[in-house]
Amino acid sequence: MNLILLGPPGAGKGTQARILVDERNMVQLSTGDMLRAAQSSGTEMGKRVADVMARGELVTDEIVIGLIEEQLTTVKADGFIFDGFPRTLAQADALGALLAKTGQSLDAVIEMRVDDEALVARITARSTCGDCGEVYNDITKPIPADGKCVNCGGTEFKRRADDNEDSLKQRLMEYYKKTSPLIGYYYAKGDLSVVDGLGEIDEVAGAIRTVLDA
Ligand code: ADP
Ligand code: ZN
Repeated sequence: MNLILLGPPGAGKGTQARILVDERNMVQLSTGDMLRAAQSSGTEMGKRVADVMARGELVTDEIVIGLIEEQLTTVKADGFIFDGFPRTLAQADALGALLAKTGQSLDAVIEMRVDDEALVARITARSTCGDCGEVYNDITKPIPADGKCVNCGGTEFKRRADDNEDSLKQRLMEYYKKTSPLIGYYYAKGDLSVVDGLGEIDEVAGAIRTVLDA
């Protein structure tokens, strides 16, 4: 089972991907996480994309397609969850070709629909555990009063460099200009399902489960 989670920044793709990883033996492939990891480890590519990402713009197709290809050809899993990829039509075509080449198929594309105001509120309130990546939100899922991560007990939390209002505006613009056409693309291919991304985390997870088990 290979699945794409599609939706604007802040739609909750990463949160839902983590739930699917826990529940099914699937592997999450987040190009955003891969690019941030490249930055932290100080690779040449990481340095090259840092400013682009902080501004909220997309990095080149060539870079992210290369990252995904590397994973698809080396990682064994019962299925992949593509989170934050593809983000352009060229990336979508490349993914189709890569899956075909490795004898796999795409089983579902789930669009997580949320309204723009909710996105801004969510993202500017977001932080993550520095150790395990558990996602918190100042309003809906605050860091526990004892300052310890619910998942791993870690005590360091961080905010992303691009989770500020200016970068977010740019990320939304990129989404509507370059990524939202993928909704029509996958609808036409017959792969698209839509889930309401505005509910509680568990409700959204339930809706995704229903789609996957159908
Ligand atoms: P979000 O979905 O919250 O915007 P991500 O962690 O998926 O965050 O991505 C963060 C940034 O990484 C993007 O704004 C972009 O600069 C870069 N990025 C991630 N995935 C891609 C991709 N598939 N194509 C181009 N750029 C990407
Ligand atoms: Zn943690």
